Amino acid sequence: MARVYNNKTEKQAKVSRVLTFSCVDGPGNRLVLFLQGCNFDCITCHNPHTINHCNHCGDCVSACPSNALQKDALGKVIWNVAACTHCDQCIDICSHKSSPKITTMTVSDVMAEIQKNQFFLSGITISGGEATLQLPFIIELFREIKEDPQLAHLTCFIDSNGSLPISGWERVLPYLDGAMIDLKSWQEETHQWLVGRGNHRVFETIRFLNETNKLHEVRLLHIPNKSDLDSEVEQVGQYLKALSSSVQIRLNAFQHHGVVGQALQWSKCSREQMETFHDKLHLIVKRPMLTPDVYT
Ligand code: SF4
Ligand code: SF4
Repeated sequence: MARVYNNKTEKQAKVSRVLTFSCVDGPGNRLVLFLQGCNFDCITCHNPHTINHCNHCGDCVSACPSNALQKDALGKVIWNVAACTHCDQCIDICSHKSSPKITTMTVSDVMAEIQKNQFFLSGITISGGEATLQLPFIIELFREIKEDPQLAHLTCFIDSNGSLPISGWERVLPYLDGAMIDLKSWQEETHQWLVGRGNHRVFETIRFLNETNKLHEVRLLHIPNKSDLDSEVEQVGQYLKALSSSVQIRLNAFQHHGVVGQALQWSKCSREQMETFHDKLHLIVKRPMLTPDVYT
């Protein structure tokens, strides 16, 4: 149950992971909160255990070698973090694309974590899963950060698949410093196939955040011979070229890390393939674009 705080119910979130220091989830050094649950079902997802909320089937309980999982009297799977060795066997066995290692954090819990680390941080990023599925929590957290004289200098970022309607972005906008948005394919049908949903909302999100100067980064995932960002390079390039010059463009290469299912049979994107894609796109966009340092 949510705590009652200052005569109001405090917002809380289902959190799959807290990273106290990251330099790859937005500008500077950031505390990153990965929220559980996503409304996309990407074939290439490298964190598929963050997609669904646990249905308490119990399949992972007996798979745990450390007795860190138990069912309570109500049939809910309870995770004992003190006994957990983080071997991730529970995640490997879960056929529901979930994890039993989820914690519920209130805004106060997260504020305490930020306060502890504040002298090393440039900001906070809410990622996922799909962060914006828990928007009321994000709004309350960002508002508290901005209203706290000790923390107001920290920038508040969201890492999103772009599916939030504009009405949602409008609600968080007063507290938002920037967002990173994925553009996974150009054609609606390709997007539908790759992630299980169309890309209309993603284009709307990018347009809105670009117009309001909150679009920090657009990320393209290059999956050679599968996604259409390469075959539609002329249109993709013209689209990216029209964005504000302050928007960072990042090209990600499809790799196998964390991926399950059919995409494991797909070829990884090599450095050479990425360089070819980058060079074709660069001829049109004519500005720097980030590419990966490491290929596995
Ligand atoms: S994490 Fe997966 S296997 Fe474990 S109880 Fe939840 S749904 Fe079942
Ligand atoms: S990661 Fe999962 S299986 Fe491994 S010890 Fe922790 S709860 Fe048990």
